[in-house]
Amino acid sequence: MLNQLTISELVAKLAKREVSSRVATQACLDQIQRVDGRIRAFISYDAANALAQADAADQAIAGGATHAERPLLGVPVAIKDVIAVKGQPLNCASKILGNFVSPYDATVIEKLKAAGAVVFGRLNMDEYAMGSSTENSAFQVTRNPWDTTRVPGGSSGGSAAAVAADECIAALGSDTGGSIRQPAALCGCVGMKPSYGRVSRYGLVAYASSLDQIGCFGKEVGDAATVLEVLSGVDPRDSTSVPQPVPHFAAGLAGNIKGLKLGLPKEYMIGGLEPEVKAAVDKAVKQLEKLGAEILEISLPHTDYAVATYYIIATAEASANLARFDGIRYGARVDGADPMELYGKTRGAGFGAEVKRRIILGTYVLSSGYYDAYYLRAQKVRTLIRNDFLKAFEKVDVIVTPTSPAVAWKLGEMADDPLQMYLMDIFTISCNLAGICGISVPCGFTQKPKLPIGLQLLGKPFGEEMILKVAHAYEQSTGWHREKPPGNG
Ligand code: GLN
Repeated sequence: MLNQLTISELVAKLAKREVSSRVATQACLDQIQRVDGRIRAFISYDAANALAQADAADQAIAGGATHAERPLLGVPVAIKDVIAVKGQPLNCASKILGNFVSPYDATVIEKLKAAGAVVFGRLNMDEYAMGSSTENSAFQVTRNPWDTTRVPGGSSGGSAAAVAADECIAALGSDTGGSIRQPAALCGCVGMKPSYGRVSRYGLVAYASSLDQIGCFGKEVGDAATVLEVLSGVDPRDSTSVPQPVPHFAAGLAGNIKGLKLGLPKEYMIGGLEPEVKAAVDKAVKQLEKLGAEILEISLPHTDYAVATYYIIATAEASANLARFDGIRYGARVDGADPMELYGKTRGAGFGAEVKRRIILGTYVLSSGYYDAYYLRAQKVRTLIRNDFLKAFEKVDVIVTPTSPAVAWKLGEMADDPLQMYLMDIFTISCNLAGICGISVPCGFTQKPKLPIGLQLLGKPFGEEMILKVAHAYEQSTGWHREKPPGNG
């Protein structure tokens, strides 16, 4: 079935004109019809618009356009509901945006369109990307395709579930503290978080601006490399994007990993790590060793402070970023007798419980009297965490860890315990605090029930080529990524 293909498989067929983008896009739409009642990855999608884009791609191919020039020509890619697509709803899975429709394309969307992708759908997420299970969506609860009584992870749970359930070929997400890598791990697909500054954030609704990055989900590492290359590059509309040359990531996958040094952080072997996750990661490390890599133990001494540091900085930035949603300029409004009452009523009705919790927490850590004790101190610890990584990367090329301490948990299991949920981010958030890049690749399954396990590879700032290469070598030597959830067809 065409919707199950990887980008490279689909592109090969499109280029030979064996299939059309219309038929491939229709196959994705059919799969959504078939399975999304169960999975609920999509908040909405515009089938007619997707097919019109597919037709345009088919015409371009008929007119001689090549995939060398436009690498995603005719490939259906679905989008997390936090990235602006012109003429499409933009809700961040929140009620507060009402029936807001984006008047412009995010830079990454312009780039996808220029590369020929069929950009479609609004994928479910935790409201404003705050969460690790996608249960904080104001619209619906997305289910894990491997077991629909379980969470898909979050906050990009819709993106991960849609790719895993073959409802699209690839997807975009955003990662502030793990929101691409963790759901990729829990749903059994590949999730790539680029280094801070690699990809423009213009048109990404900000959660925590110093941590947010847009990245991608794919069915194999090569696909993540292809999409990342399209997304990457400096953008005058995002002053934090960095003018680094963009490597040809897909071409960089070839070759072996003999002699590369991989570091295992001793601080990551925590008590809460599920035994089957540990066993799978241990096995993956042995496999990497077999492929010729050298394994070294390293230390990231400030790991213990990462969760606390992250939840101070992320909430502080969120409290400022979300101040703009006040019922005046965007989305829904609840009227009041005066502006203060209007703000209060609009925000009270529009934001969900987790978003409110974070705005309150973030406002508190920034308030005078507490600023020095919390926010300022967290910024200092952030520097220590970044220095831990930079020091480790003097000795090793790539750091290897589990992506998540746990496999997909039951829906509702942690809904009443936010702190427990925050602790699930232990392996992913340091990467954002340090501004480095990370990828999650499938590395096995638990026995009963059969649930995916993810391996995380962390690289130096702008070291995407290296982690993609190691991830690819591992993936190709194991083939875990080829397993499909039950019911995919
Ligand atoms: N789970 C983390 C949080 O809730 C990370 C979310 C994200 O990366 N957007 O903040």
